[in-house]
This record gives sequence, structure tokens and C-alpha cells, in this order.
Amino acid sequence: MTAQVTDLRAVTGMIFEVQRFSVHDGPGIRTTVFMKGCPLRCRWCHNPEGVSSKPELSFTPSKCIGCGYCLRVCPRNAHRFTDHGHELDRSVCAVCGSCTEECYARALELVGRETTAGETIDLVLRDRVFYETSGGGMTLSGGEPTFQFPFAEALLRLAREEGLNTCIETCGHADQSRFDRLLPLVDTFLFDIKETDPARHTEFTGVSNDRILANLRALHAGGARILLRCPVIPGYNDRDDHFDALAALARDLPRLEGIEVIPYHPLGESKIARLGLDPDRRAASASPDDATVARWVARLRNRGARVVNENPPGD
Ligand code: SF4
Ligand code: SF4
Repeated sequence: MTAQVTDLRAVTGMIFEVQRFSVHDGPGIRTTVFMKGCPLRCRWCHNPEGVSSKPELSFTPSKCIGCGYCLRVCPRNAHRFTDHGHELDRSVCAVCGSCTEECYARALELVGRETTAGETIDLVLRDRVFYETSGGGMTLSGGEPTFQFPFAEALLRLAREEGLNTCIETCGHADQSRFDRLLPLVDTFLFDIKETDPARHTEFTGVSNDRILANLRALHAGGARILLRCPVIPGYNDRDDHFDALAALARDLPRLEGIEVIPYHPLGESKIARLGLDPDRRAASASPDDATVARWVARLRNRGARVVNENPPGD
């Protein structure tokens, strides 16, 4: 092992999940590494456990079997049983994780752990045979992978050393210099465009889309392979003017792989409750039916955009 590889393997980062056999995060069978920390605050966030860069305590009361072990080990007395059931006082919790180690029912879980790039790539490499037969590889997701830039870069360099196909799912909000450095390390950028209207982008995500669009154009000019991923949230960005602007953006970037429409899914709502996050900032929406998604896709296609979604059943 060269000194450079040894150094890369020692870089530390905070992850919250490693998903093996993923088939939705790039070509073939992949392992997706979910990293903590994100500069955006999307109101419909699918992975709210990826927003904070720190570990968090997840509590699912419906799984609690009332054994009381957590009460005994918590140094902050954050757990108690009342007439309303098992209550957790997050205001005193130090997220030490002691109660999660005692909770065999997995009602309590620590979300986020520090690891090294070496340990993570070893985990990814376990499924090399599946990547080779399917054209798959490693995908970095989150959270926002560029938020922990040294860790993301180290993982991608190690993957390159191993000859793995690499993808990164990004919100695009980072210094352009970071994308310049990642360009030779990434086979496909899964680049999120959440809202084309600048004022609404700020309202829905907490940041302007200026830098995101500039990074997208710079990556395209640099020869990156890019698939636009566009979450569509009924009542927020399911507007005709947004679809028309997305199609215009795609026409402006002729080497794009295409657009993938990501229909809203309420998965993030239950996670908000389990993590004790503020539910008020959350968008109230519902999953669209197949006919609605088909209409969105048709509007984009009719305006010349290459949409990679399969046609919904019955279309
Ligand atoms: S350790 Fe887990 S199952 Fe036992 S009381 Fe605490 S939360 Fe419930
Ligand atoms: S994470 Fe630590 S401080 Fe927080 S409730 Fe569990 S044992 Fe107590």
C-alpha cells in the first residue's frame, strides 16, 4: 500500500448509513454511502437525518417494550415513564448513545457514526463482484457529500484506485473549487435541481440557487457526465413554469444524460418525529399518483427534455 493510499484511508468522516445492493443511485448494483451534513434545509427533505453533521438520537416509541434499561443507564435522566408512556426529554440529552446500546428492541438508535475512508471503502469493496457483473459501483449521498469534502474526496480517490465506478448525489451548493477537484474522480454526477424560480428556491431550501446553477454549468462545460434529479412536491414546485424552466435548462446543457423526476414521498415525515426535529418547517404534501407523474414527465418531454423515468403503468 502506498503512503498516499494509507493517508487517504485515515481520513475520517461522519456517515449515517451504508446501503448495499442499491439500484436507484446510478447504474448497476451499487453501494451508497450516506454522509451527514447538508447546507440546505429543504422543506420536503427525504433524509432529515442527513441534515445535521452530528450524531442524533432516534426514538421510536411504538417499538419500546418497557424494559426500563435506558432509564438505568442514562446519565442525564432523560427517560421517564408517565401516564402518557415513555417520554424522552431531549433538552437534557447529550447524545452519548449509552441508552441505544442497552435497547434491544431498537426503539433507541444513534444516527451517525464516525468512521474512516479506509473502513468505508473496505465495506464497499465487499460487493465488487456485483459491480463487475452489473456495471455498478459506489455512490456518495447524504446529506450533501461535499459538506465533508476531505472524506468525500478520499473515498472517491480510493474508489478510483480500485477501479470502481463512482457517482455522487449532490445538491450543488458548495465552492466551485470542490467540484473542480471532484470532476476527474466522479463518473456520474446525480445533480439535484429542486426549484428553478430563485425566490422560491430560497423559500423552500434556505439558500439561493445562483451558486447551484453556476456549478451545474461549470461541471457541464468541464465535460462531466450529469443526470439532473428533480424532486417534485405537489403544492410547491409542481408548477408548469418550473417544468418549462427545467426543460429550457436541459436544452441549454446538450450533453446532459437527462432528467429524472423524483415524485414526493412522505418517508421523511416519520423520521422527523423519530429525531425530535421541528415539524413546522416541513412541507405538507402527498405522494402524487401515477397519472400525475405521467403528466409532469409528458410536459418535460413535450418541451424537448430527455426524461429517464420509465412510463408509469397504464401510460
Ligand atoms: S431500553 Fe428500549 S425498549 Fe427498553 S424501555 Fe428503553 S426504549 Fe424501551
Ligand atoms: S443518548 Fe445518552 S444522554 Fe441521551 S438519552 Fe440516551 S443515555 Fe441519555
